[in-house]
Amino acid sequence: MEKFYLTTAIAYASRKPHFGNTYEIIMSDAFARFQKRLGKDVFLCTGTDEHGQKIEDLAKDAGISPKEYVDRVAAEIKGIWDLMGVEYDHFIRTTDDYHERVVAKIFKKFYDKGDIYKGFYEGWYCTPCESFFTETQVVDGKCPDCGREVKQAREEAYFFKMSKYADRLIKHIEDNPGFIEPESRKKEMVNNFLKVGLQDLCVSRTSFKWGIPVDFDDKHVVYVWLDALTNYITALGYDPDRSYEEQDEKFKKYWPADVHIIGKDILRFHTIYWPIFLMALELPLPKKVFGHPWFNFGNDKMSKSKGNVVYADELAEVFGVDAVRYYALSEMPYNSDGSITYESVIARYNNDLANNLGNLVSRTHAMTKKYFGGVVPAPDVREPLDEELYAAVREGIDRSLSLMGEYRVADSLEAIFTMLRRANKYIDETMPWVLAKSEETRGRLATVIYNLLEVIRVAAVLLVPYIPTTSKNIFSQLGTDKTELVTVSSFGALEAGKPLGEAFTLFQRIDEKKFLEEMEEKAKAALEANKPIPEPEHEAEIGIESFAAVELRVAEIISAEPIPKAKKLLRLQVDLGYEKRQVVSGIAKFYTPDQLVGKKVCIVCNLKPAKLCGVDSFGMLLASGEDEIKVVFLDPSAKNGDRIH
Ligand SMILES: [Zn+2]
Repeated sequence: MEKFYLTTAIAYASRKPHFGNTYEIIMSDAFARFQKRLGKDVFLCTGTDEHGQKIEDLAKDAGISPKEYVDRVAAEIKGIWDLMGVEYDHFIRTTDDYHERVVAKIFKKFYDKGDIYKGFYEGWYCTPCESFFTETQVVDGKCPDCGREVKQAREEAYFFKMSKYADRLIKHIEDNPGFIEPESRKKEMVNNFLKVGLQDLCVSRTSFKWGIPVDFDDKHVVYVWLDALTNYITALGYDPDRSYEEQDEKFKKYWPADVHIIGKDILRFHTIYWPIFLMALELPLPKKVFGHPWFNFGNDKMSKSKGNVVYADELAEVFGVDAVRYYALSEMPYNSDGSITYESVIARYNNDLANNLGNLVSRTHAMTKKYFGGVVPAPDVREPLDEELYAAVREGIDRSLSLMGEYRVADSLEAIFTMLRRANKYIDETMPWVLAKSEETRGRLATVIYNLLEVIRVAAVLLVPYIPTTSKNIFSQLGTDKTELVTVSSFGALEAGKPLGEAFTLFQRIDEKKFLEEMEEKAKAALEANKPIPEPEHEAEIGIESFAAVELRVAEIISAEPIPKAKKLLRLQVDLGYEKRQVVSGIAKFYTPDQLVGKKVCIVCNLKPAKLCGVDSFGMLLASGEDEIKVVFLDPSAKNGDRIH
């Protein structure tokens, strides 16, 4: 059985991935399922990249250890991949012990070979990308990869002799068309990086700790890219102490990768550094590196501060998983960046899924029920119009399969939907409801209905890699088990005389106006939640004696009741253990009495008694906020009357 090994870039475990970061795994899953349908033994590897300064910093801000931090985010990432129905064969984390062990060994192997040497690094450093750049690489003082500010940095470091392998790599790229895809990106790599002279790469860091330690010099941790890239071989059980021939069966079976699927922004790491590391390990190079474009939101990059971050799981809640998969796969061009807008999500959903596909299925099912008692009729009287339909189906099949083989996923999907549109037109042309009026045209009617059911089946077979659940739903409505790819090699595999399954709506139309209003609300709320909190005005510093002069004690609320004519106030009776007293508090708008009774609160006991709206108050209840008041509740086990200090 032919094998097919494909990988995604491992997701950086810094935060929950947005829709743009989820696109890659959906696309990779579609490719993997497609290759499986072709009968190959497929291995899909994905996972999380968990080391580096950025994660160390984020964990520090969150007040937890880096490992706790990445455990959380990795679980979130895996959860989204699972929700999207991704059939990965291995989910690797760069904090997995087998991975860490092998990376340390690889580093030592390079050092022993003389490919790695110790020196000093001085240059421009981009913290988010964790990359050093030379003077010629930075663009107007900004990182050439992400466009953010770079800063001067100098540190003791280990270097990898990239230049030693540069000529071999140039030759490999030139001898292997298709190694870098799309072709347009190949020139950029060769001309901008390889031909101008490859700099030695700094492959260790001393400025932070959260990485894989260099085992013979533990002040250093391994550069995150050397760490991350090797996941593609550690996931298969690679052992650097053995030659390629001596590796385990699994490794020898799947390596080299048939394709690394990555974002175009990390093409340099995958088409220059990674092949050179592999050359140094004397391993074969991957067959292809496919750099896909990115999704923007409208014309903007998605970002938290703009409040335009779209998450796949949130979209799936409204539209369903298959609709999100369909959108991601159909909307992304092969070469240039895609753009997500809620309008386009709804348009795709309503036009393609609900109308073109969903309506075709429900209309055809209903007609089969009405005219043939829900049993697939045997085709009978054929007309020239049918030949046109068959040709369109043939073209849809051929185009979708060949385009998918070329990684043109959106075009491939479009070929299937063009075929479906042709089938909808066929209904208008043949007008089954007119044919149904006369016994004479019953044979023709049978052919028309059969053809429609068969086109739907063919489409469902082709759609399995993209929207697998929808395909399954269609097969069940057709009552067919002819679901494999071989069944579309000739038109007519659907068996006549068999009853259809139950009908149900595949995609419920979405009310655009209502949806957009809801999204706008949500975006506003997200933006509000993200607003930085301005520095408040502070009081003058006090000594501990001043604070001690305020007598704070634990009290339990034993009753609470509204005060007539004072809408804001509640009359509370509190138990201080040594006595009970009445306290009036302006929290009526925020708490009902039953939310308060039985709770432990903090009372200022030595506040001068006051009259509020004519009611006596002996003390004050601690609470926070101005516009929205929150009572300070204490641990339920706190003892009534105890001093708070
Ligand atoms: Zn950068």
